Amino acid sequence: MEAPKVIKGISQPPSVNLSSVRKLRKKRPELNVETIVEGILAGDRVRLGQAITLIESTKPSHQIKAQAIINTCLPHTGKSFRLGITGSPGVGKSTFIESYGQYAIEQGHKIAVLAVDPSSQISQGSILGDKTRMFHLSTHPNAFIRPSPAGASLGGVARKTRETIMLCEAAGYDLILIETVGVGQSEIAVHSMVDFFLLLLLPGAGDELQGIKKGIVEMADLIAINKADGENALKAKHSRRDYSNALHIMPPKLSGWTPKATVCAGLSGMGIDDIWKTQQLYKKQMTENDFFKKNRQNQAKYWLHETIQNQLKDLFYKNESVKNVLKEKEKAIIKGELSPFKGAEELMTLFLG
Ligand code: GDP
Repeated sequence: MEAPKVIKGISQPPSVNLSSVRKLRKKRPELNVETIVEGILAGDRVRLGQAITLIESTKPSHQIKAQAIINTCLPHTGKSFRLGITGSPGVGKSTFIESYGQYAIEQGHKIAVLAVDPSSQISQGSILGDKTRMFHLSTHPNAFIRPSPAGASLGGVARKTRETIMLCEAAGYDLILIETVGVGQSEIAVHSMVDFFLLLLLPGAGDELQGIKKGIVEMADLIAINKADGENALKAKHSRRDYSNALHIMPPKLSGWTPKATVCAGLSGMGIDDIWKTQQLYKKQMTENDFFKKNRQNQAKYWLHETIQNQLKDLFYKNESVKNVLKEKEKAIIKGELSPFKGAEELMTLFLG
């Protein structure tokens, strides 16, 4: 049999080669702050996405622009309900969010789904907030989904998410869902940016088996035993009873709210309406007793100090004089020639120059 002939391709004329197209693209002028803010306030998702990209950028000029955008949007922020959702991988978070989000949209809300996933620093891509995991929601005009910012420390990811919440609110999203994974530190960060914290658990298995730390159960305003369908239904009821009992003996919350335990199944939508009602009741009670406002004020103060601390730390470790001698000081401390406190003092003196 005759071998197939290789037909040579036609070389591209210089006028359409890729590098000239790229050059043309680069020349596109960057949008100014006013244009982006106008777009955000008009609910333009493209402009919102562009602003979030600026927030996520490490380029100083982008950061300056991002801060200007956030500040201009400030009067239009704060009018949402912010809901944190946590649970171990596989507990059914994205399936739940898909159901809950659609339910909320049916009630007339616009929802944004954000994620805090510090592991995206290592994996260079977040599984949380991935659009393919929430197919129906991701194609709905009243939903906006943004995965966890990658390549930053937990502090960085959390701060960027906090800023993104504000822009989503300015764009008219009045229910913000922030998804995280049950490993400890990231829950604390999410807890400090939401109004209500929902913990999803599996029927039957104890906290430790599910990788849930005790402190996380204490943070929850509502525990939902998910996948409470089929063979799991009875086990889920027992788990709900156990958690209800455990929640009752926990110290009372500052909010005055008594955390509850319930059952649900994100896949079929069972229990979603009950969770919605609990969320509404919480909002009503917390608005009446003023906790809602006070909590947000405290959270804003917390983020002021968090941001200052992170930025100071960054400045310190990026300082050339500090970088030059840091290793030397570490060695001296290991050899017992210098105390860690004296070492810190010497480095601080160098830093303050
Ligand atoms: P995530 O990792 O916490 O986001 O979990 P997923 O939402 O990706 O769900 C993990 C697996 O559990 C998938 O195979 C889902 O189909 C399944 N699952 C999610 N919700 C339910 C549910 O309510 N009932 C049952 N039986 N399975 C579910």
